[in-house]
Amino acid sequence: MSTRVNGIWSSVGFLVVLITAQAQTPSSVLRESQLFGVSHRIGASVQPKLLIVVAHPDDEYMFAATTYRLARELHWIADQVVITDGESGYRYASLAEAIYGKKLDAESEGHANLPAIRKEELLRAARILGIRKHYFLDQKDLGFSASAADASVENWDQQKILKFLSNLLAKERYDVVFTLLPTSETHGHHRAATILALKAVAALGENERPLVFGAEASPPQAGTQRFSGLPSVPLTSTLNDQPAIRFDRNTSFGYHNALSYQIVVNWVIAEHKSQGLFQTDTDKDEFERLWLFQMSGKDATSRADELRRELMANTGH
Ligand SMILES: [Zn+2]
Repeated sequence: MSTRVNGIWSSVGFLVVLITAQAQTPSSVLRESQLFGVSHRIGASVQPKLLIVVAHPDDEYMFAATTYRLARELHWIADQVVITDGESGYRYASLAEAIYGKKLDAESEGHANLPAIRKEELLRAARILGIRKHYFLDQKDLGFSASAADASVENWDQQKILKFLSNLLAKERYDVVFTLLPTSETHGHHRAATILALKAVAALGENERPLVFGAEASPPQAGTQRFSGLPSVPLTSTLNDQPAIRFDRNTSFGYHNALSYQIVVNWVIAEHKSQGLFQTDTDKDEFERLWLFQMSGKDATSRADELRRELMANTGH
């Protein structure tokens, strides 16, 4: 595999870094795409497409195994939009100072050095997951107050982000969009990123919309968690208060059934060295739970059923 890095200015003025992974296309691609049957939309691509929209570099953790399954094993095309530059959260970065040779765990040095480092970490993690292109929208990762749930996005240029997402969705015609579950307890940036993605998708015609999921990775005991949407934001309503898809990271396969998708998730965690305590999440969350948003357009339930069947069939191959 060869990798090409280009920096270009997009039509709405964001510096967009494209990483193009030129993987060989196996002959099974066509067969699996036909099986998935996403061509319900006129002009839909032969290879199904996934778009990830997140606030921070490392948020992809929430659906890392599902993304790996789609991009690496089922040969989907996957792209990722990261809204902030990830410069916040410097307090636990000290362990990575020896790796990068830079001061990271003080506020001013962290803000200066972390954006470039976290971009590199994300690209290495994304290479594992099989992500094709990255769009870094470089909004400042600020606004963190006493509680993460209250983190402000006032400094984000929301109109510009919305326009960028709308243009990308219209151009690429994605089949599925992954976001983080916008609960009232999650980081304010996660909620805002998901709502912006939902607004961009809502501007598409009903027959043109991808399935949009809100995801959270959690341990087995969180299995009873419900989410039906934020009462103050109707766009976040889900079709069901239980997840439409549960992907088990501990699904085992391989020699002596000793391998699992948890190993892939741990590879991803290991790439984010400047995140410090994130490393202690190794093997912590068993399930990736994906709730389906109501605004996902025509035949959303049957399309999600089909996606679930594809995800679960012959895992580990
Ligand atoms: Zn985050």
